[in-house]
Amino acid sequence: MKLTIIGYWGAYPGKNEGTSAYLLEGENTKILLDCGSGAVARLQNHINLATLDAVVLSHYHHDHVADIGVLQYSRVVDMNLKGTTEPLHIYAHKDDLMEFNRLGKKPYAEVFSYNSNGPLSIGPFTFSFQKTNHPVPCYAMKITDGSKSFVYTADTTYDEALIPFIQGSDLLITETSFYEDQEAKTYGHMNSKEAGTLAEKSDVQHLILSHLPHFGSHNQLVEEAKKYFSGNIQLAASDLVWPKEN
Ligand SMILES: [Zn+2]
Ligand SMILES: [Zn+2]
Repeated sequence: MKLTIIGYWGAYPGKNEGTSAYLLEGENTKILLDCGSGAVARLQNHINLATLDAVVLSHYHHDHVADIGVLQYSRVVDMNLKGTTEPLHIYAHKDDLMEFNRLGKKPYAEVFSYNSNGPLSIGPFTFSFQKTNHPVPCYAMKITDGSKSFVYTADTTYDEALIPFIQGSDLLITETSFYEDQEAKTYGHMNSKEAGTLAEKSDVQHLILSHLPHFGSHNQLVEEAKKYFSGNIQLAASDLVWPKEN
């Protein structure tokens, strides 16, 4: 599998960058995890939009779904004018039915629901989901291709119920919305200490800090998380690829 960070900012995108969006590729399958602001523009640095098979949405906050409307318009254009025949598959939860029902329409999109009861297969990938602690319903996702696996927390407070869900993964991508001395729980998020602690208790080897704040110095987030986590830590960045390419 190949995972590319398309957008990593919390709340709104930094200049020429994007909020939460991650491109997952493997065996001719291309999936976007969340579709934040800037995702459609930035995704085209990596793939032709018509070749995207599916989008999996963690929740309906703007910084995770801002571009889902225009991504569907790209499929309308591609299907009507460029000869693409495959609709965009959108996977989302039904805990907010109004938001779910606003997602795409046939023939350009097909919408499917997921939940935490069972796994979901998309191409070579198996997804499992666990609800997080956030002001609106949100799901962390664990994704494996049978050889490698990672967990993307999406948005959440520090929640030890995530530990068994994360254990055994090669990589953890945590949201890290605040610095160690800042209270994050009130906002439904984690700070750097909590991100590091979650990774340490989950026994992962590699941690990527993402959903980054628009204040302070991001390197400080790494220094703070390092105090609580003994594995490799990396800051999310545009176009960063995991596993690292040789
Ligand atoms: Zn959120
Ligand atoms: Zn968010």
